[in-house]
Amino acid sequence: MLNKRILKINKSSTLAIVEKAKELRNQGIDVITLSVGEPDFSTPNYIKQTGKGAIDDNKTRYTAASGIKELKEALIKRYKEEQGVEFSLNEIIIHPGSKFSIYLTASVVLNEGERVLIPSPYWVSYPEIIKAAGGEPVFVKYWDNQNGFQYSFEKFLPEIKRGIKLFILSSPSNPTGAIMKGAELKKLLQASLDYDFYLLIDECYRRLIFDNLEYPSPLKILPEAKDKVLVSGSFSKTYAMTGWRIGWTFANSEIIDYMGRLQSHSTSNPPTISQYAALAAITQEKDEVDKMVMEYNKRRDMGYELLKNINGVMIQKPEGAFYLFPNIKKAIKGKYDNTFQFAEKLLSKYHVAVVPGEAFGEEGFIRISYAASEKHIREGIEKIKQALNE
Ligand code: GLU
Repeated sequence: MLNKRILKINKSSTLAIVEKAKELRNQGIDVITLSVGEPDFSTPNYIKQTGKGAIDDNKTRYTAASGIKELKEALIKRYKEEQGVEFSLNEIIIHPGSKFSIYLTASVVLNEGERVLIPSPYWVSYPEIIKAAGGEPVFVKYWDNQNGFQYSFEKFLPEIKRGIKLFILSSPSNPTGAIMKGAELKKLLQASLDYDFYLLIDECYRRLIFDNLEYPSPLKILPEAKDKVLVSGSFSKTYAMTGWRIGWTFANSEIIDYMGRLQSHSTSNPPTISQYAALAAITQEKDEVDKMVMEYNKRRDMGYELLKNINGVMIQKPEGAFYLFPNIKKAIKGKYDNTFQFAEKLLSKYHVAVVPGEAFGEEGFIRISYAASEKHIREGIEKIKQALNE
């Protein structure tokens, strides 16, 4: 028999849908992809040029397993400028993608059977990564029909009181775009000290925030909690660098040390060429990211308006990230058994790929990525409307 933990792991549904859409495309079918969270923009030119230059300069060998010093320093500087908190060099590690940040967090922090609180809806990979590390995911809904998606501390308190080792906060959230506001975050940080758990904040959508909303900086809010907090970040979404595979973690030096040991025995260093490209991404950035964010903002508004006007669809305007997460429960009633079935039909008959809410722990919803062209968003939502009216 294979490893018992691994037998419980499901495939990533976001990536599985990418594969399915590719298959259809290979058959010559024109598929509109509103499923995977991947910018449709190309990596900005200045980053690509640096990547090419790194190859020509033979920056193609191993680096330190935990990443190059220059990139760590640049990320520390950036964090200080943006969030007013200073980390030192032994409090950061660079990973081959930020998924590995979550993976190493789980591996370093959890013992067999320890509980991890995951607000629901959640990003598909959290529970699977926790299970692979031997932990037990505990889900708490952070939405209701009246208030929509609101991270409110009170909702989490009962499970926190039952004892957790780790809390994973995705803010802005994948899939809802919700941001945990300062007052609630402060209570959560205080709880990490009072009830002794680690708080992993997944900031991979931190730059993708709209309407001038403020992003509350956790460690400025409650600096005393610094030893309990891990911050995970990524170049993928912000700089349209999904394939370059670079992410990072800030945490206390003990955690970073053990993450480094494990990384040195698993992946070794993150891709060298990508690390130099990532260094350029933050040190030479002008208005490239701001322009992409403005574009996402326009697309969000357009997608929101189109969905709002479909009968039986309930939708909240997301505060950040690049997903719309409408509740279509009423609209599919009597027509489809669940949102999984709806998404299958939408792909096979209408050739539009979205991710069913089941992947995020919430049947009744679908996730629509608006990291796609305006034309595709418009056409895709029109087909969603047709499929719902069928
Ligand atoms: N994080 C993105 C998503 O949710 C990319 C795919 C993945 O790794 O899940 O679609």
